[in-house]
Amino acid sequence: MTNRKKIAAGNWKMHKTLQEAQGLVHEIRTMAETELMNQAQILVFPPFIHLQTLVKQTEGSNIKIGAQNMHQNEQGAFTGEISASMLKSIQVEYVLIGHSERRQYFNETTTTCREKINKALIHGLKPVYCIGETLEERNQGNHFVVVEEQLQALADVQPENFSNTIIAYEPVWAIGTGLTASADQANEMHIHIRKVVSEILNADFAANVSILYGGSVKPDNAQSLFAMSDIDGALIGGAALNSRDFIDIAKSF
Ligand code: PEP
Repeated sequence: MTNRKKIAAGNWKMHKTLQEAQGLVHEIRTMAETELMNQAQILVFPPFIHLQTLVKQTEGSNIKIGAQNMHQNEQGAFTGEISASMLKSIQVEYVLIGHSERRQYFNETTTTCREKINKALIHGLKPVYCIGETLEERNQGNHFVVVEEQLQALADVQPENFSNTIIAYEPVWAIGTGLTASADQANEMHIHIRKVVSEILNADFAANVSILYGGSVKPDNAQSLFAMSDIDGALIGGAALNSRDFIDIAKSF
C-alpha cells in the first residue's frame, strides 16, 4: 500500500505580470478553499520575480509556490541566474528541474539536472524532475531508453530525501500541442519509470514517489489520466493559466 501525494502543479512559464499573477492566485485560492474537497496538493510555478509576493499571498493555504528553474552552483559569476539558497531564503519550497523547454532552449542535460537536483535537496528544496521523450524518439521506439537515461539524474538522491522528490513525465510531443498521451500510454511509461527508479535507487522510493503526467492536461482528460494506477497528478501548462480549468483539474482526483 502506498501513500503517494496527489498533486496538481501549474507551470506558468513566461506568463503574467505581477498584478495578473496576484489576481490568478487570488482566484485559485478562493476556488480551492470553497470547492476543493479532496486532498490534492496545489503547486504553482510562477516566474521568478513573482515568487516572494506569491509565497506571502498563499501563506496558510493549500497552495505551495515553486520556481521554474535554479542554477546548480552555490553562488558566483553567473549573470542572470538564481541559486537554491536564494529561493530558500524567500520560503520557496519547490523547484522544477529539467523542463523540456530548459533542455531544448538552454542546453540542459542529465548531468546538469543531476547537479541541480542535488543542490536543491541540499538546500531543502523539493525538486520536481521533468523527463520525457521527443516525437522522433518515440517514433523510433527509443522512448523507454531516453527516459532511463534522464532518470540517472536521480542517482545521488539519499533516502532522507526520497519523500522530497517528485518526478514529472512529460512527453515533449504533448506539451502545448493539444496532443495528449493516452491514459494507457502515460501509465505504461509511469510503470516503467517506477521500475527504473527501483533499479537506480530502491523499491520503496519507486513505490512511493509521486509521478505527475504533463502534456496538454485539461479538465476533460484529467479524470481518465488520474484514474490510472501509476499517475499521481499533473504538471499543467496552458490550462494552469485559467483558474477555473486549473481547479477543475485538481478536483478530478
Ligand atoms: C508544461 O509546460 O509542462 C505543460 C505540460 O504544458 P501544457 O499543459 O500546455 O501542454
